[in-house]
Amino acid sequence: MLMILKMGVTQQQIDKLVDFIEKHKLKAHVSIGETKSIVGIIGDESKISKEHLESFDFVEKVMPVQKPYRRASREIHPENTVIDVKGVKIGGNEITMIAGPCSIESEEQAFEIATALKKMGVKVYRGSAYKPRTSPYAFQGLGLKALKILRKIGDELGLVVETELMDIRNIEVVAKHVDMIRIGARNTQNFDLLKEVGKVDKPIILKNGVSTTMEEWLFAAEYILNEGNNNVILCERGIRTYEPATRNTLNLSVIPILKELTHLPVIVDPCHAAGKRGPIPALSKASVAVGADGLLIEVHNNPQVALSDAAQQLTPKDFEILYNDLKRVAKSVDRTLV
Ligand code: PEP
Ligand code: MN
Repeated sequence: MLMILKMGVTQQQIDKLVDFIEKHKLKAHVSIGETKSIVGIIGDESKISKEHLESFDFVEKVMPVQKPYRRASREIHPENTVIDVKGVKIGGNEITMIAGPCSIESEEQAFEIATALKKMGVKVYRGSAYKPRTSPYAFQGLGLKALKILRKIGDELGLVVETELMDIRNIEVVAKHVDMIRIGARNTQNFDLLKEVGKVDKPIILKNGVSTTMEEWLFAAEYILNEGNNNVILCERGIRTYEPATRNTLNLSVIPILKELTHLPVIVDPCHAAGKRGPIPALSKASVAVGADGLLIEVHNNPQVALSDAAQQLTPKDFEILYNDLKRVAKSVDRTLV
């Protein structure tokens, strides 16, 4: 942390600041200039908050040198984190396709989609059992019944299965049935939930919230990492902007920035960003081109009658065309898509 002090600062004030820094078992380096003086903190600056230093009224500016999210940062973990879920490696050279319906609606529906995807070569299957719906009258998900279907799909078809966890009270039952847990946009900053999934031995897909900044999202990941779960996958799913052309605006700008700042895998969900089918192929290709480590795509055997997100789910046929196109885009960026 570097602090620029205001003009006219007295020696007594500098001593007071140095004393404050040393009380935190850190060293202070003072540099008295002709017009401005600078104080540098040497050591783990996370021991003192920026706000606390800014509260000294003779401090003009505080500039952190280290990233405030320590565990998620490349500063302490320069290599990419590669997460191995039952042999599927996420975050390495391979780009991972995660596909499946928005909601598990019945065993027949879920199996029909899963069988089609498996045949194409998809290795990770998505499907929600608990649905975060805006209206309490909308389909809320099949709950435990859906979790059992997911496990059956995982075991019988040899797919890695994932689902959303919304409520801490379901953490054990969800962890028991699926291989990866997804935290959705409405719970990105549900800190108690994040701390609990941090104690679970399953990879966590953490979406951004519709109005979280990138830094807030990384802090959310830090909550999980802090509890000992190092397997966090960030998933960009669009942000709320003034643009009504799509339901949310897919924030692809954040992907290369995240890849530089964090060692965690970063994937993209273009479906919940677009809210409609049309833009999904182009957004998916752009995601691969911009450096995403994976995609999360909704596929339904009969989207017209889907109980949730009917407008944005792809048919297996349309998905297959996209999947093959994406393999070519991946190749052009020296990666393979599985
Ligand atoms: C989902 O992936 O099923 C979902 C509800 O997405 P989000 O949390 O991004 O809205
Ligand atoms: Mn959905």
